[in-house]
Amino acid sequence: MVKYLGDFASLLKLNLRCDSRVVRISKPDDRFVVTDQHGNQFFSRVVIVATGVPYQYVPPISGINYAELYSRVSIDPKDFVGQRVLIIGKGNSAFETAENLIPAASLIHLASRHPLQMAWKSHYVGHLRAVNNELLDTYLLKGQNALVDAKIERIQRANGQLCVSYGYAHADAEIEEILYDRIILCAGFRWDHSIFDDTCRPLTAIDDRYPAQTSEWESVNIPGLYFAGTLMHMRDFKKKQSGFIHGFRYNVKMLHTLLELKYEGRPLFHRSIPATPEAITDAIIKRVNVTSALWQQTGYMCDLIVAHRGQAEVEYYEDLTVDYVQDNFAKEEHYYTITLEFGQERIDAAPDVFQVSRPHKNDVSQAHMSTGIHPIVRRYDGGRLLRVHHVIEDFASEWREQVHVRPLAELMAGEFSMGMSPSGASSARKAALVS
Ligand SMILES: Cc1cc2nc3c(=O)[nH]c(=O)nc-3n(C[C@H](O)[C@H](O)[C@H](O)COP(=O)(O)OP(=O)(O)OC[C@H]3O[C@@H](n4cnc5c(N)ncnc54)[C@H](O)[C@@H]3O)c2cc1C
Repeated sequence: MVKYLGDFASLLKLNLRCDSRVVRISKPDDRFVVTDQHGNQFFSRVVIVATGVPYQYVPPISGINYAELYSRVSIDPKDFVGQRVLIIGKGNSAFETAENLIPAASLIHLASRHPLQMAWKSHYVGHLRAVNNELLDTYLLKGQNALVDAKIERIQRANGQLCVSYGYAHADAEIEEILYDRIILCAGFRWDHSIFDDTCRPLTAIDDRYPAQTSEWESVNIPGLYFAGTLMHMRDFKKKQSGFIHGFRYNVKMLHTLLELKYEGRPLFHRSIPATPEAITDAIIKRVNVTSALWQQTGYMCDLIVAHRGQAEVEYYEDLTVDYVQDNFAKEEHYYTITLEFGQERIDAAPDVFQVSRPHKNDVSQAHMSTGIHPIVRRYDGGRLLRVHHVIEDFASEWREQVHVRPLAELMAGEFSMGMSPSGASSARKAALVS
């Protein structure tokens, strides 16, 4: 990884400076002043902060000082032989830590207030991934280890052990005390805002976890201050994948184009395609079968088609966030977003994720009941949603058959036969509202 990054930097002749810890960012006038630990100062109109989430969150529990931080605790199972271990947290870090200790510890409990959520059901990769879930067998099949849904009231020393008082979430508020030898804290991470001085202190969001950001990942109160990497997750916290390289790589690419637009006047890249139903349908079908951004950032990133009255071509934009489109294109009379989405509401409502009913593959009238990932085209006018069209799901996630293409072509034929003449735009709107 290090060699790859080195090669990448030298190939692209990146202007990098290592051994530079930023200790202060200020904005005394219209420029930022960034100061490193050696006292070097850098001046800039724009600053992008991509410092990750380096601090472990320590919840305000009486006696939490007895817990060891996940980032510092020994990872040698031999140090836990025969011990009773409590892990605070039920995320991937907690499960990964637990899995490492299963052969050594006499008992492992994972405790937090909220029930476990599986990534395979929620489609959020911050929930528990199958690769880390071996402990569940040792709980539900073997009864050695356990998950505890409870509020930890306090932790106290008791005869060389640690006594934890729980208020159970699912047992009529039963209170119980359990003894452990070790407690490991895996309760998530926070960003570091200590580098900002009073001249440019960004507002924060989600319990101080992230900087508060606009749909352009710019600070809501400090113009010119942007955020990249996992810090972008403020905009889709616990819903989509911007907390992970998996997702934020697409946001970073989009941020780059936004900065070019705002600071260098380079228009957002788009293709022009003929304003005909055939060309538009073809463009959508081609894209949904190859896009990576819409596939990884389901419902968060979209393609955008903007049609202008009386013009023979429409504009086709790729890989923008839905938030950004709603903030910046809402004045347009005729535009479409194209996303790939799961039928998440129906999946959430199903008692068993492996028994979710789905429509017959040829029953396009039930396309909106699709639960697997599938394209959704939304038609807007002035920020108002007029239509939602689902392209029926496909077992192989390839939407090229007539059941996928024809209904979309019919929709576009309706829209463009009456919608694109100067006099026809408002009648299209009226027709759409009526339907
Ligand atoms: C166990 C684990 C497994 C994961 N697995 C996956 C996975 O499979 N797929 C996936 O997509 N994601 C995964 N992630 C998440 C992914 O690693 C992070 O989302 C990603 O590394 C965040 O990148 P970033 O650049 O935003 O922050 P970081 O990688 O944290 O980089 C921040 C950088 O900023 C530097 N920095 C901080 N403060 C300062 C300062 N004041 N001055 C100068 N430099 C500073 C740091 O030294 C660091 O180099 C995993 C995370 C963990 C913990």
